[in-house]
Amino acid sequence: MKQENQPKVIPVIIPTNSMLRTYNCYLIKGNKEVTLVDAAIDDDEAYNYFLETLADNNLQVKDITQIVLTHNHSDHTGFVRRIREQTKVDVYAHPNAHLRLMRDEKFLTRRIDFFNQLYTEHGCGERGKAEVKRMAEALTKNENLRVEAPILPIVEGGMINQFKVIEVPGHSIDQIALYNQMTGELIAGDHVLEHAPSNALVEMGFEGEMIQSLYLYEQSLKRCEKLPLNIIYPGHGIIVEEKCNELFTERLNSIARKSKRIKEAVIKQEQTASMLAKNYYKKRYDTLFVLVMSEMIGHLERLVIKGELMKTYRNSVYVYSENKNNINH
Ligand SMILES: [Zn+2]
Repeated sequence: MKQENQPKVIPVIIPTNSMLRTYNCYLIKGNKEVTLVDAAIDDDEAYNYFLETLADNNLQVKDITQIVLTHNHSDHTGFVRRIREQTKVDVYAHPNAHLRLMRDEKFLTRRIDFFNQLYTEHGCGERGKAEVKRMAEALTKNENLRVEAPILPIVEGGMINQFKVIEVPGHSIDQIALYNQMTGELIAGDHVLEHAPSNALVEMGFEGEMIQSLYLYEQSLKRCEKLPLNIIYPGHGIIVEEKCNELFTERLNSIARKSKRIKEAVIKQEQTASMLAKNYYKKRYDTLFVLVMSEMIGHLERLVIKGELMKTYRNSVYVYSENKNNINH
């Protein structure tokens, strides 16, 4: 399917000892433009590795004409400052990323209040309070993660070096992927990884509402499952060159399986999200609290949207129970 005159994707795969395995950036090299997609973490060793890979491909930092961020997480934005110190390239991201990339204090403070309420209403007690305290401390501690660049918006349908922007919210509210229709190449950010499921993280929307992250994530997976694909370039781990569509199917199936188990537990006994998370994830409730609660709330809300469970606000917490009126049985 590879066509003439298509831009070349040059992967930059930076190793790490963490569970992420690698930080992946990609250069899209066209006739005139060299786009850098994602910018790993702010770390000397990682940056040197990046410079070496550029040199191996007869490129230098000043050859980069623009940066595209697939989403706002700091393990995708790390080199922006260093690159812009050398060359004032434009930085593009989805509009939902802007306040997060700027680390807008008003927005982040509101976001902490949101999580405080969320964890309280889902029965997380002291563990929730500890997480909120950590978030408040991170407000100043992580100031250095601010992306110091004017961010230009890119949305669905926009074109970057012959790659089309597609919005795939779920892992994050601003997640985009870049798709080349001619070659079947998909630069996926963290929308899908080969070695592990991506987390659909609970998030606050602009109105202070909860984003239905897992539900959105499922829609975004379904969308990519149908695309003609030859290769997936993910944000971490190995590049997927075979069974690309099957990877999306697998992720969808595992969401459905997990939801089914959670639904069965709720049908046995009505529960709060934190009770379910403690029973389901055991020790990981404490060690991976944010991920585990995101996942549990995501599944419960998905089941409520589908009419399979219902949610009642009782004594200041949400209790999930079987929806006996569900006509889809
Ligand atoms: Zn991410």
